[in-house]
Amino acid sequence: MARDTSINKNQSHPSYATEHDVRILDEELNAMRAHYVILATLDVLIGLIGPHLLTAQETPTERQAAREILRKMDDLEKSLDVPALVAKLTAPNAGRDRVVARAKELMEKELLALSDDIGRNPEIGFEEHRSVEKLTAYLEQHDFVLEAGVAGLPTAFAARSHPAGSPPRLGIIVEYDALRGTKGAFHGDQHNAQGPVGIAAAIAIAEHLAASKLPGSVTVFGCPGEEMMPPNAKTQMFEAGVFNGIDVLVRSHAVMATSRPAPGFGTCCLNIDGVKYVFSGAPAHQMTSWNGRNALTAVIHLFNNIDSVRSSLRPEARIQGVIAEGGAAPNVVPDRTVADFYVRYPDEIYLKQVREFVDNAARAAALSTGTKVKIDHYGKTRDGISVATLAEVGFAYMKKYGAKNVLEEPGKPQGYEETGSVSREIPGLGFTAASSSAPNHTYEMDGDNFTDVGHQGFLVDAQAMTALLFDFAGNPEYRAAVKREFEGIRTLFAEYLRELEKTYTVPQVAEPTAK
Ligand SMILES: [Zn+2]
Repeated sequence: MARDTSINKNQSHPSYATEHDVRILDEELNAMRAHYVILATLDVLIGLIGPHLLTAQETPTERQAAREILRKMDDLEKSLDVPALVAKLTAPNAGRDRVVARAKELMEKELLALSDDIGRNPEIGFEEHRSVEKLTAYLEQHDFVLEAGVAGLPTAFAARSHPAGSPPRLGIIVEYDALRGTKGAFHGDQHNAQGPVGIAAAIAIAEHLAASKLPGSVTVFGCPGEEMMPPNAKTQMFEAGVFNGIDVLVRSHAVMATSRPAPGFGTCCLNIDGVKYVFSGAPAHQMTSWNGRNALTAVIHLFNNIDSVRSSLRPEARIQGVIAEGGAAPNVVPDRTVADFYVRYPDEIYLKQVREFVDNAARAAALSTGTKVKIDHYGKTRDGISVATLAEVGFAYMKKYGAKNVLEEPGKPQGYEETGSVSREIPGLGFTAASSSAPNHTYEMDGDNFTDVGHQGFLVDAQAMTALLFDFAGNPEYRAAVKREFEGIRTLFAEYLRELEKTYTVPQVAEPTAK
């Protein structure tokens, strides 16, 4: 079963998300492993569907809802004959090799040095001014036209090879924010390399399209603050229409093991709603506290109320929060407190019920303490879509260009970016060639940025990304296959969500009567 592999992969590259901020602890992983062993047993019992497709669903209820849908997805995948497609596209091709060699040359001459430079000058999310300056200056030197500060985000940008944007429109997502560490910012997730990798591919492909007089355009999307929310930068950019008209999106991300997702829909770390509860009361002297209203009592009630309803929620729900503000002094009744929660469930349909319980726990806390609460739903991450027509070709290219530590078994289906908002609307792929011998978010992974381990992985990503974009730009049949698979999975995903809507009924609660 692929189950254990996918869990180990989650551990080695929690590369999708806000999960970066909420690290999976060992004990949680052990609990998840136990959970997955049970699910693996269920797989055997169900035993009707391709094993790689089953990994998307995490609860028995979801599996039941997905059975027919996964069978249809299996049919879709078989009809695409992806192995034949991979063999055809990755066969010897002198034209492709020249374009890939150009990307490699750019990396070796200048862009690995730029990766080192950004790595040595880390900037946290939404403050990446120097990094953006360096990346966009390089793109402008190579005739890309810069649009700075897109979607109202000062450190977001779009840089276009052909501003008119003739199709096929190729998009490359690059990120550059560092982690917030106790000793200051550091690039323990190697986002410093994403810009240089994506830019090498962008320039090589743009030059190729121009020299060959082929239709097409390349846009590099600078996406800030992947490690932080709010705001969810890519969701905000998507909603502002920044990605409109793009036919395919790629990005790279650091990992310990070279991997790719199975086709389907899913996410690494459950669907998440980020919610802040802000309580306001009235201040008073501690000795005459009846003259005030205590916002700290309210926020403590919130936590207790949540604990009191856990048994009325499905066991896979994860509700964890912190008190971000708890008052200022023990002799003043606190008149303002803030709690910050991540509310998680494996699917977004039941998540709505879970969040309503938590929101009501906050309302009840305010009501019972005579305070007021403001509920701020500030961010969300959702299932994304992965397609084999991109993932398998990208994986074959990563191996061709010398990727190390290869995991042959596909991982869990998931989108190429952490929010799910973009990857369920535009087909794409995240390139993940091994670029460190240490796990994500560590000082050791930061250290590998500057060694052969890192540089070699970044070179593989740049070359594989260039090769795949070369195929996508020049091969209408390939584009059609990607589109057919993506639209097919999207339709089945919608069907799955409708099935779940039917499954998760809410019990009827009768009006109380006098006797
Ligand atoms: Zn990351």
